[in-house]
Amino acid sequence: MKQTTTGPHTASMEQRVDAIQAALDERGFKATQAVDELGHKAQEEWLPRNGARVVAKAWVDAAFRARLLADGRSAVAELGLSLPKHHRHLVALENTLRVHNVICCTLCSCTAFTLIGLPPDWYKDLEYRARIVRQSRTVLREMGLDLPADVEVRVWDTTADTRYIVIPEQPLHTQGWSEERLASVVTRDSMIGVSRL
Ligand code: FE
Repeated sequence: MKQTTTGPHTASMEQRVDAIQAALDERGFKATQAVDELGHKAQEEWLPRNGARVVAKAWVDAAFRARLLADGRSAVAELGLSLPKHHRHLVALENTLRVHNVICCTLCSCTAFTLIGLPPDWYKDLEYRARIVRQSRTVLREMGLDLPADVEVRVWDTTADTRYIVIPEQPLHTQGWSEERLASVVTRDSMIGVSRL
């Protein structure tokens, strides 16, 4: 993180964070424990492979796909996956030959992070958040996804209580693959909607 220096005696960001953490710990708020737990979850549990399982299942199981589109939260629970309480709605967005969905959070950095992982740095950049809405085709092209002119682009702005997951189209060459093998080709970026598979 960039250090803000206003004078020779200003503590570094790390020192200030440590001081706040220590002050909270002293008062019994268990800040260090909470930071460790969150760090563990972010690195070991909230991973794109969760969303990849959802996508693979939706590809092979039409009934599941219908349930996922109708009520994302309950459908992912069938796979043992959950979202925090405040992610009240999980909306699955189906890509087709004619429609391409892409998500953003114009305010900050929200994603369905328990399924697709914590947001990448570019997702949090003002540049992406502002331009994907107004110049979606151009931004997608800059990110390596050049969509045909007849494909409609739909941009979805995440809110505190509504989270999205893009269901990319299944690559043709993967027809007949097992669910597990299918899940291995699904990427985080395809579930954000900035790439196709
Ligand atoms: Fe946000």
